[in-house]
Amino acid sequence: MRIGAIEGGGTKFVCGIGNERGEIEDRISFPTESPDVVMGRIIDYFMGKQVEAIGIGTFGPIDIDPSSHTYGYVTTTPKPGWSGFPFVETLKQSFDVPMGWDTDVNAAAYGESVWGAAAGLDSCVYFTIGTGIGVGVYSEGRLVHGLAHPEGGHILPRRHPDDRYEGACPYHGDCLEGLAAGPSLEKRWGVKGHELPPDHPAWAMEAHYIGQAVTSTILLLSPKRIILGGGVMQQKQLLPLVREEVRRNLNGYVSVDAIVNGINDYIVSPGLGDNAALCGSLALGVEAFNRRKH
Ligand code: ADP
Ligand code: ZN
Repeated sequence: MRIGAIEGGGTKFVCGIGNERGEIEDRISFPTESPDVVMGRIIDYFMGKQVEAIGIGTFGPIDIDPSSHTYGYVTTTPKPGWSGFPFVETLKQSFDVPMGWDTDVNAAAYGESVWGAAAGLDSCVYFTIGTGIGVGVYSEGRLVHGLAHPEGGHILPRRHPDDRYEGACPYHGDCLEGLAAGPSLEKRWGVKGHELPPDHPAWAMEAHYIGQAVTSTILLLSPKRIILGGGVMQQKQLLPLVREEVRRNLNGYVSVDAIVNGINDYIVSPGLGDNAALCGSLALGVEAFNRRKH
């Protein structure tokens, strides 16, 4: 099987070719410019490569409702030129193959559930904490869509008592993304996240916010694994701090073994590393291929 995969990120796109075992055989990456430029590069890349299906996991918001007349469109993004762009339709004009289509974080959750840190489990939640915060939800063996798609990066946390920063989200100010994504670290502390030393108070504050989001996720969805990825999570001291926060927040209330004794194997880093979203897009392509065949 030869499947195309597209990961559309806020700063860069990655395209690859892979198979049903999750092996990526070739890839390229290029900056996220206007849809014209990006689609040109995607089409050039896949042209002549004989892919049997393509899976797409992209930044959003996007329309993933198959019954909607704007299915396959990017919807309300402030990114220049992308709002209302018919992504799937444009690609179909060049490649008449089955296509899978979902958010980049749902793709990452799916990739992790097929080949990564949640392999063999029928639920997981994937957080990316990077330029923004995104949350992908896989539950009872399928990605959660609902009304539009989950937007867990914009939930409203309780503020840290020492935090005077107003928050960076253009829509909500001090939502989770506004207080805890990479750019908010830089605006609050005056230096980029990777320049803050591991014992800086920034990390306890960061864990306070991420820990709340993870706690709420456990209480709302009870996923069998929680995966924390994205550039900010490259700070190795952060994951143990988040686990501690979660334990403190829950305070013994959810007394299951995975939390009481096994939290190190329950709240984890991506098994697929930086490839979670691309592998997930590949998995969406494999799924689209299998769906069309039957
Ligand atoms: P994106 O979200 O754009 O796909 P990333 O997941 O790499 O990309 O996230 C980029 C954000 O993460 C930036 O705000 C950057 O400052 C922050 N970041 C990247 N590496 C680190 C690090 N080692 N420590 C703290 N923050 C980091
Ligand atoms: Zn917000």
